[in-house]
Amino acid sequence: MYEAASERYDHMIYNRVGNSGLKLPAISLGMWHNFGDVDLFDKSRNVARRAFDLGITHFDLANNYGPPAGSAEENFGRILKKDFLPYRDELIISSKAGFYMWPGPYGEFGSKKNIMASANQSLKRMGLDYVDIFYSHRPDPETPFEETAQALDLLVRQGKALYVGISNYSAEQTEAITKIFKELKTPFIIHQPSYSMYNRWIEDGLQDVLSREGLGSIAYSPLAQGLLTDRYLDGIPKDSRAARSSSQFLDVEAVEKTVEKSRALNEIAKRRGQTLAEMAIAWILRDGKVTSVLVGASRVSQLEDNVKALNNLDFSSEELAEIEKILK
Ligand code: NDP
Repeated sequence: MYEAASERYDHMIYNRVGNSGLKLPAISLGMWHNFGDVDLFDKSRNVARRAFDLGITHFDLANNYGPPAGSAEENFGRILKKDFLPYRDELIISSKAGFYMWPGPYGEFGSKKNIMASANQSLKRMGLDYVDIFYSHRPDPETPFEETAQALDLLVRQGKALYVGISNYSAEQTEAITKIFKELKTPFIIHQPSYSMYNRWIEDGLQDVLSREGLGSIAYSPLAQGLLTDRYLDGIPKDSRAARSSSQFLDVEAVEKTVEKSRALNEIAKRRGQTLAEMAIAWILRDGKVTSVLVGASRVSQLEDNVKALNNLDFSSEELAEIEKILK
């Protein structure tokens, strides 16, 4: 029987999500990779348990996480049943619909048909009656935002989600859908964008919209899938994401393009007494604009390293300037 660490709330920082009543841990755990049927269940389970013991109360999923698609939710459902059910009220579990899940015209994007069906499938796979946050995973160029917003609103009214969010929406799209959620009085509280030292698109407009509207944000792929860690500083390990055939979005070329910068950043991290991963996470939290950093971890030691980022969140103006110079 798993018993959660009694000191689990002693060190984690919890940040309020925009103007809402909800708080999220400064570091959350995502299950896009490392929790599929291609991964070892006990390893995944140990990462999830260690996360909760470290005060990580938020686990992020989506219908399509795996591979195969759906298996991360199924495996998380098994972990819930075995370990976490007594702690359900201490957990914030999220899922999403929008990317391809099943064939035909209803298996992806933002129609009411897709979102309702997909959310019901996700709940079933995880063995839950509700998720804490349900997201529209990406904007749908063909469905009116009114319809997507109404579907998310209905999930809340049915008690299947407590809050809703959007992911991968531009600043303009976020503004447009926020207006609709306000009319519907939907508890829309959060945006999930990609954000890291290597991917700063949200600084160009989206962060202003979020702050103006009182919305929170949770940054995904904060370590650029491992590029902003010591994983690739001396070559490409066989068991790394860049070397795995199941990872479509990180390849050897991406490593080659960034490794010089990562080595230079690593020197600054060393001076700060941090690993590169720790510094990359601290950098995201540097100005208080991001609510939570959504990391992935293929092993317990990575997760422990990532949480250590919280031990040093302050940057001198010299350090920030030096980092800017490298990132240019
Ligand atoms: P990261 O940028 O944190 O990359 C995680 C990977 O980096 C790990 O699998 C591991 O790679 C490596 N790593 C992590 N910590 C360390 C460390 N301390 N030292 C060395 N290597 C480390 O995030 P992800 O890309 O995994 O994304 C995180 C989450 O964000 C996802 O699980 C998902 O929940 C969400 N997400 C959302 C998307 C959306 O469209 N909304 C899209 C993508 C992600 P290795 O496996 O090689 O060990």
